[in-house]
Amino acid sequence: MRPLNPILNVDVAIIGGGIAGLWLLARLRQHGYGVLLIENDRLGAGQTLCAQGIIHGGAKYSLGGQISASTTAIAGMPELWWRSLLGKGDIDLRAARLLADHQYLWATRAPTSRLAAFFASKLMRSRMEKVADDVPAVLRHPEFRGVVYRLDEPIVDVASVLAAFAERYHESIVLNQGPVTPKADGTLTLRHAGQATWVIRPTCTVFTAGAGNAALPWATLQLRPLHMVMARGPALPGLLYAHCLGASDVPRLTVTSHYDATGRLVWYLGGGLAEDGVQRDRREQIHAARRELETLIPWANWSRAEFATFTIQRAEAQQPRGNRPAEPGIARDGRVLAAWPTKLALAPLLAERIEEMLRTLGARPRPVDLRALADWPRPDIAVPPWDREDLEWS
Ligand SMILES: Cc1cc2nc3c(=O)[nH]c(=O)nc-3n(C[C@H](O)[C@H](O)[C@H](O)COP(=O)(O)OP(=O)(O)OC[C@H]3O[C@@H](n4cnc5c(N)ncnc54)[C@H](O)[C@@H]3O)c2cc1C
Repeated sequence: MRPLNPILNVDVAIIGGGIAGLWLLARLRQHGYGVLLIENDRLGAGQTLCAQGIIHGGAKYSLGGQISASTTAIAGMPELWWRSLLGKGDIDLRAARLLADHQYLWATRAPTSRLAAFFASKLMRSRMEKVADDVPAVLRHPEFRGVVYRLDEPIVDVASVLAAFAERYHESIVLNQGPVTPKADGTLTLRHAGQATWVIRPTCTVFTAGAGNAALPWATLQLRPLHMVMARGPALPGLLYAHCLGASDVPRLTVTSHYDATGRLVWYLGGGLAEDGVQRDRREQIHAARRELETLIPWANWSRAEFATFTIQRAEAQQPRGNRPAEPGIARDGRVLAAWPTKLALAPLLAERIEEMLRTLGARPRPVDLRALADWPRPDIAVPPWDREDLEWS
């Protein structure tokens, strides 16, 4: 007779180790729950490691001239992240790296761009300040004609955030071979070559698997694509963390700066360029990116820059007409939840809401002994886009 698989009882099983799963793990562990997070690839392998790392406070969502539900939900996030980054919050992220403690928003000479900035600055009075002397070095040029605002929104190095969680909660994070799916009786199977197969019996299960939540037939999600661009090379005029405003309520271009594994500076370009770019192929998207940079920062020599692009889907709770959700989304089927933070910045709010739901579903803090899994394989941290080997630079 085959021996029975060993069984592990936990309060909460979390499936998926992006920012949503890791922040939830940290919160539940802090509050005494017995939690196991199961990842089937690398931590952050979905959307999280592709994020630009901006901890939004809502300015981006007030460009239409109105305080929207998105602005309200996200307003408290920079402060909450700050507390964690300084080790003063519930969640300790002192080991994570800050890329910049604020970013900029710049309006071009175009009246529509200036108007969007003006209205946003009125709405975001405490968060957004017009600057004259503190213009980022890249924009400090006699040819620059725009108006610059400083935004109270930090930028984090996303890989270091994931590493901080992975290190601190190492024993609670395991690698499964293949996607995890719940069985009808609520149990999960944990497998890996060379290991005994375990049956995990959670009181509640939370899927924070991003696009992988689609495996749950009741968890209706939407996918919204982006065509992101990266630029590198000696042409880059320095570090920049900024949104450039255009005519719509989506920034025309969002620039963050990163260093690749060889120490080269890379500009990571999103915003309207990435949203509109889903209609373009790689060559056309690189052409569009070059044109934007040459138009907005003409004093740099862009002919010497190399570019790469990739497409990625944002996975979110389904909305009427496929609009961007204003808040994190949670779906439920019995004691199984499926959740999407909507933004990296909103992961703490999502974790708070999930914990409240778990309590109503009967999950109670109690210690769990994970020593039997001490030798189980752990997932690595995913590779950021600028270090991916499958992308072509030209
Ligand atoms: C290009 C881009 C830029 C962005 N920039 C920002 C930004 O600057 N600021 C901001 O606030 N937000 C940003 N976002 C949004 C943010 O990245 C996402 O909202 C957030 O990362 C989603 O995290 P997640 O944990 O829900 O999902 P994911 O990061 O997708 O993680 C899901 C995890 O689950 C794993 N998984 C999937 N299926 C299974 C399964 N069956 N079993 C086990 N594991 C599974 C995956 O391998 C993955 O590790 C950006 C998004 C994109 C795409």
